[in-house]
Amino acid sequence: MNMITNHPPTKELQELDAAHHMHPFTAGAELAAKGARVITSAKGVTLTDSEGVELMDAMAGLWCVNIGYGRHELAEAAARQMRELPYYNTFFQTTHVPAVALATKLAELVPGDLNQVFYGCSGSDANDTNIRLVRHYWAAKGKPDKKVIISRKNAYHGSTVAAASLGGMSAMHAQGGLPIPDIHHIDEPNWYAQGGDLSPEEFGLERARQLEQAIAEIGEDRVAAFIAEPIQGAGGVIIPPETYWPEIQRICDAHEILLIADEVICGFGRTGNWFGCDTFNIRPDIMTIAKGLSSGYAPIGGSMVSDEVAEVIANAGDFNHGYTYSAHPVSAAVALENLRILEEEKIVDTVRDVTAPYLAERWTELADHPMIGEAKVCGMVASVAMSPDKANRAPFQAPAGTIGLMCRDRCFENKLVMRHVGDRMIISPPLILTKDDIDTLMDRAYRSIDEAYLLAKKEGLF
Ligand code: PMP
Repeated sequence: MNMITNHPPTKELQELDAAHHMHPFTAGAELAAKGARVITSAKGVTLTDSEGVELMDAMAGLWCVNIGYGRHELAEAAARQMRELPYYNTFFQTTHVPAVALATKLAELVPGDLNQVFYGCSGSDANDTNIRLVRHYWAAKGKPDKKVIISRKNAYHGSTVAAASLGGMSAMHAQGGLPIPDIHHIDEPNWYAQGGDLSPEEFGLERARQLEQAIAEIGEDRVAAFIAEPIQGAGGVIIPPETYWPEIQRICDAHEILLIADEVICGFGRTGNWFGCDTFNIRPDIMTIAKGLSSGYAPIGGSMVSDEVAEVIANAGDFNHGYTYSAHPVSAAVALENLRILEEEKIVDTVRDVTAPYLAERWTELADHPMIGEAKVCGMVASVAMSPDKANRAPFQAPAGTIGLMCRDRCFENKLVMRHVGDRMIISPPLILTKDDIDTLMDRAYRSIDEAYLLAKKEGLF
């Protein structure tokens, strides 16, 4: 039997999976006891599992399938490239056509003067590249002590040793001896959970000014860069107060440090513009890209680098860094085709002008539910915070994530893939979602939240 097209029964797949497959971010024993959900195919915004159940994927996989599933043009681009040149590297003074074509296209699409790309295979390895890049940059400028990178608690920048250190996830730091030295974390701009009596605007300024304090404490001569996601994604879709980014930009401009925007989630249309930097008017020196670059159809990521940084690096001898699959030709060809579709089908424009405003209107209605403390949305990424006492933005008595998990399970029952981060529920659907799809999503989301609410009440969690 062809295991891929005519798959064995679900139970058998689950047993083989439990025996041989170690899953990311998963309690293995728990999953083995329960059995993984097996996804067998997908089209548009809909996943189908091995039992024939159809689910609306309101997470676009892991925030990446921006153009939706089932676009054969990308399969054809991959097949064409595999036939022409399946692999070659860009080390040692060589290049190839897809690497050049994609780099040229990226320089055109990305804002500002970020005109060069260093290719990698994922968001994590691109952030590793960034660490080496900024330190090498300062060393080349005669400032080898400028090594510290300032990041934020509850940020997500990837899972390699360096990228997880850069991130501010305490559960990740608790395993494997992280973080590595010379990474400093300041507080996140999460007004809902941490804003206290401050207005969102006051709080945004207070959190941004922690960057200035940290630079003063560590010393400007030791700080290389500040890295942040325009909107924290895995941290719970935390959309910062309006005052936050302008103040961060002012601080980065006033002090001699590089600004790295991690656009792995926000890039390629997610916020209703091509990049989160367009939405928040951020002018970074380096930008991390991945996910939506190929809509997840092939692994590819990279660092977009400003003219000034690129020039310093270019004149500093060999940059002793690179991956076998940097600029993988098949991934690059797939990414190019994905960008063609995003552009020609005006997908980002439609998000900005039509579907994001409608999602905003519908999503914010959730704030009327008795268990929803805030409903936030930006483009096609949104979150709600659940609370037993919304007037005071209070957390639940039950351990964080208890109600979130309950709600997530209700979503699966209601044929909706929505994720929870603690007791926040989050979505990041394919950008091709129509208004009708949004109505379906909202019906299922509301029903799931309401069922979780009734269940939590019944179990005495309120
Ligand atoms: N940065 C951000 C902002 C991300 O959301 C992610 C992935 N969720 C990464 C980096 C890491 O990307 P990858 O999983 O492709 O390594």
